[in-house]
Amino acid sequence: MGRKYFAWSFDDGLEQDRKIVSILKEYGLGATFHLNSSMFGDKTYEGRIGNLGMTEKPADSFDPARRHLLPYVEHFRLSKEEAMQLYEGFEVASHTCHHVNLMKCSEEEREKEITEDVKDLSEIFGYQVTGFAFPYGVGAKQSREALQKAGIQYARTIQTAKDFLFPEDPLAMPMTCWHVSKKAIEKLDSFLLAKPQEEDLFFLMFAHGYEFDFNTKESNWDKFRRICERVSLHKDVTACSIGEAFRMHEEGVR
Ligand SMILES: [Zn+2]
Repeated sequence: MGRKYFAWSFDDGLEQDRKIVSILKEYGLGATFHLNSSMFGDKTYEGRIGNLGMTEKPADSFDPARRHLLPYVEHFRLSKEEAMQLYEGFEVASHTCHHVNLMKCSEEEREKEITEDVKDLSEIFGYQVTGFAFPYGVGAKQSREALQKAGIQYARTIQTAKDFLFPEDPLAMPMTCWHVSKKAIEKLDSFLLAKPQEEDLFFLMFAHGYEFDFNTKESNWDKFRRICERVSLHKDVTACSIGEAFRMHEEGVR
């Protein structure tokens, strides 16, 4: 019989990750955090449209008096020192040095953004980084060679997977669900109740920490907690990082 794996995937290395990590620990879940090695301590504000972060404003141009025009939340990145402490026991993965759009980069720039981020994060965190997430979800086609050169084994896009199987192409890996989806809980429940036959099953839930601060119906801390609680109640599901799920899947752990 196949096994079931669940992983959270968070991007950008934000201050909201403090609360995320404490809730994950409470429920005994793993996760992967995708970081930009040249942006530690960077502060911007993220404007919300619906449940999605849509407009980013640098902190020095942010006007709190005009906050009402778009509801803004903090998009403050952790310092390097705090990140080193906070993510202990979780997987750190790459997200390019400067959060660039890889589709708009020159080939040289693309390779540099990927290779140097992987190298720097590996040095900072003391192990070889093997995971990646595309900033804005784009550029998988253009980046394949650079990712392989950097030793990356899986790279996450923001496409949605059609099923609960491990991706056919790990270097252009879809997510299973963005937590803001109206169907997130329903989809999660169908995964949790699924009985795997031969094949292993995998659920990758995607989020940015700041999205929980939106406090809308579909994007809030309570929903995050509910998802964590549901997963933790299913003892047949291994709740780990993306990297661990791939490793166990490939080694055929039973
Ligand atoms: Zn990002």
